[in-house]
Amino acid sequence: MIDILVAGGGPAGLAAAIRAAQAGLEAVVVEPRPAPVDKACGEGIMPGGLAALHRLGVRPAGHPLRGIRYTDGRRSAEAAFRGAYGLGVRRTELHAALHARAETLGVRIVEGKVREVRQGRDTVTAAGLTARWLIAADGLHSPLRRALGLDRPVPGPGRYGLRRHYRLAPWTDLVEVHWSPYGEAYVTPVGERLVGVALLGRDRRPYEDHLAAFPALAARLTGP
Ligand SMILES: Cc1cc2nc3c(=O)[nH]c(=O)nc-3n(C[C@H](O)[C@H](O)[C@H](O)COP(=O)(O)OP(=O)(O)OC[C@H]3O[C@@H](n4cnc5c(N)ncnc54)[C@H](O)[C@@H]3O)c2cc1C
Repeated sequence: MIDILVAGGGPAGLAAAIRAAQAGLEAVVVEPRPAPVDKACGEGIMPGGLAALHRLGVRPAGHPLRGIRYTDGRRSAEAAFRGAYGLGVRRTELHAALHARAETLGVRIVEGKVREVRQGRDTVTAAGLTARWLIAADGLHSPLRRALGLDRPVPGPGRYGLRRHYRLAPWTDLVEVHWSPYGEAYVTPVGERLVGVALLGRDRRPYEDHLAAFPALAARLTGP
């Protein structure tokens, strides 16, 4: 019988399946979208996350990150990570690396969506598969967690995230967090000539409107 059935093949689901396989368990992942799965993300992996990836045997390509800088355009504060680097990684690169590692370890990745979960005495059945355990890795707002009555209220209002990439040589090896009264912009070098920008805010509005709240950053991204 399958030991671990994982609903969701994002970073959390694939990492859980890889860890299970490393421990000698049979793991199956159910994911509706074909690899590599992309998603709006700041694409900055902190040193602890990078060390965890290495323990899983996952080494995605990316841009080393030395630390973090916070700025509101006038003032800034920055610090280097202590003793280790992080990594700026395209989301598709991270997903492809996790996916490849899972397959190498014999994890079966099944295309599909978990809709209903039936629990037996010692088993759980979902997406036509029966396993000893189910891991709900179907994202931050996990409908499965809610359906199973395990949800907790999320504090504060919801926020919207938008992301874009710029073909530019990174001007720093720090993750930059720019803030304004409307939200934040996470700027991450992810390649030799690639910079990612993720905008997070309370209001749903077009990317350009959001970016306009960060004039110094907008000028840097669009050039003279
Ligand atoms: C704008 C923004 C910037 C961010 N920046 C960073 C950052 O810089 N660094 C960082 O570490 N994190 C960042 N994050 C957070 C990071 O993106 C998430 O923590 C991460 O994606 C969580 O991974 P996950 O696998 O839990 O969920 P997801 O990546 O959401 O994956 C869930 C998967 O489950 C699948 N799924 C959904 N429903 C079902 C179902 N019923 N059955 C089967 N499969 C299902 C989906 O198709 C999806 O592939 C950012 C997030 C946002 C929004």
